[in-house]
Amino acid sequence: MNIILFGPPGAGKGTQAKNLEKKLNNFQISTGDMLRDEIKNETEIGKKIINYMNDGKFVDDEIVNKLMKKAIFDNQKKGKFIFDGYPRTLEQAKNLDLWLIESNQKIDFIFFLNVNKNIIIQRIEKRKIIEKRSDDDLNTILKRYDTYMLTTKPVLEYYSTKPNFNEIDGGLKIAEITSKINNILGV
Ligand code: AMP
Repeated sequence: MNIILFGPPGAGKGTQAKNLEKKLNNFQISTGDMLRDEIKNETEIGKKIINYMNDGKFVDDEIVNKLMKKAIFDNQKKGKFIFDGYPRTLEQAKNLDLWLIESNQKIDFIFFLNVNKNIIIQRIEKRKIIEKRSDDDLNTILKRYDTYMLTTKPVLEYYSTKPNFNEIDGGLKIAEITSKINNILGV
């Protein structure tokens, strides 16, 4: 079963993706993690994107799509993806649809974790202390939220009409969100 977790930074997508990985034996596919790895490994891509990421801006579709395409056609993981942080633009969403058709897959469930700016700020401040992510400072957080709201709105509109779209209150406690998701999945 392929699942999309969708929502602003700090909505809890990563946490829920990890829960689902364990529960379903699926694979989390996080573009944020992939991009941070490129930076950590000081690759050509890493050097290109470091300023965008630290500035809270989206990385170019071309770069993100290239990384994602490679991952989607992995035969070991096909049909077992948990998309976390992708797609974030309409172009990415349309590319994803195309690759899924080409690789004989589909999206079974879309979860939109909806959460307001104040809760996100509190959560990311906390995460900054625990995970020490370089893109987790307050200014970056606010920019990332605004970028998200602006760029991702068309993606939300695109998905919200689909029959497998589910909106969940991302302001709830982690366990409550997990239980709502599990109920919908029937697991
Ligand atoms: P995340 O870990 O999902 O919160 O992503 C961290 C940062 O990585 C974002 O603020 C963007 O700069 C970049 N990023 C992650 N996923 C994408 C994507 N699908 N498209 C563009 N940029 C992305």
